[in-house]
Amino acid sequence: MTTLLYTHTDCLDHDPGSYHPESPDRLRAVLDGLSGPGFNALERRTAPLADLAEIMRVHSRHHVEAVLVAVPERGHAEIDADTVVSPGSGKAALRAVGAVCAAVDAIMAREADNAFCAVRPPGHHAEPDRAMGFCLFNNIAIAAQRARQVYGLERAAIIDFDVHHGNGTQAMFENNPRLFYASTHQSPLYPGTGARSETGVGNIVNVPLRPMAGSAEFHHAFNEFILPALEDFRPDFLLISAGFDAHKRDPLSQTMLDDADFAWVTERLVAVAARHCEGRVVSSLEGGYDLQALSTSAAAHVAVLLAA
Ligand SMILES: [Zn+2]
Repeated sequence: MTTLLYTHTDCLDHDPGSYHPESPDRLRAVLDGLSGPGFNALERRTAPLADLAEIMRVHSRHHVEAVLVAVPERGHAEIDADTVVSPGSGKAALRAVGAVCAAVDAIMAREADNAFCAVRPPGHHAEPDRAMGFCLFNNIAIAAQRARQVYGLERAAIIDFDVHHGNGTQAMFENNPRLFYASTHQSPLYPGTGARSETGVGNIVNVPLRPMAGSAEFHHAFNEFILPALEDFRPDFLLISAGFDAHKRDPLSQTMLDDADFAWVTERLVAVAARHCEGRVVSSLEGGYDLQALSTSAAAHVAVLLAA
């Protein structure tokens, strides 16, 4: 039983500016949390650069080219008010996509049971034709489509416990009954999508949580809505948009989760994967903006993957 950790130093070179919450220090905090003796069994791998064709599984050619053209030779360039790129952003984004794709490949080759991708920029807000919300390319959605299209798996599911709704992933999945997307997210909060009524073709499960919601509401959302629907879907591959910004210390939300909640949900998801898809799980870092909480909650998440 092996857990892979994919990352790359290029992911530190995406610099949206010194006051931006999506900072390179986030990745350092995650890797610091995974550096203790409890994580000696992690098999650490370097993320390759993705081919552009890989990104076009879910994005238009126009989008891919527009993002890469926006990358400046020096300084910063704003794609929108939240989404800023620096000279290293193009390579960082290609490493992030490369990580999740390599993770899918390694698991399909039975080199490992599951994998965590410690990468940035994050991806779940990126829509087919638009970068937004700190996200350039939708890493986890690309991985889901790679699992289906390269390996012939029928059904791929993404579970997203980031405190923000993954509007981009939903937009990519909502018309395809072979894909499943479920999200818990604070409401109201950016980007404003993710109402309960948004159900796609019966393959989308949104559970908005009130500000100040804590463990009880989070567990209820999974136990009552998300886990039963995921069991019914019977995924052939399970992917996780692992954002840790629902933590009670996080400055971007009022949701009140703690490290144990991230461990709990990971245990539940690993159990579903064991029943339906031989334990195949790829998890990829999304948000999480309090460095201490990010470090300890990512460690709690990966510890469960390691124990699977
Ligand atoms: Zn988030």
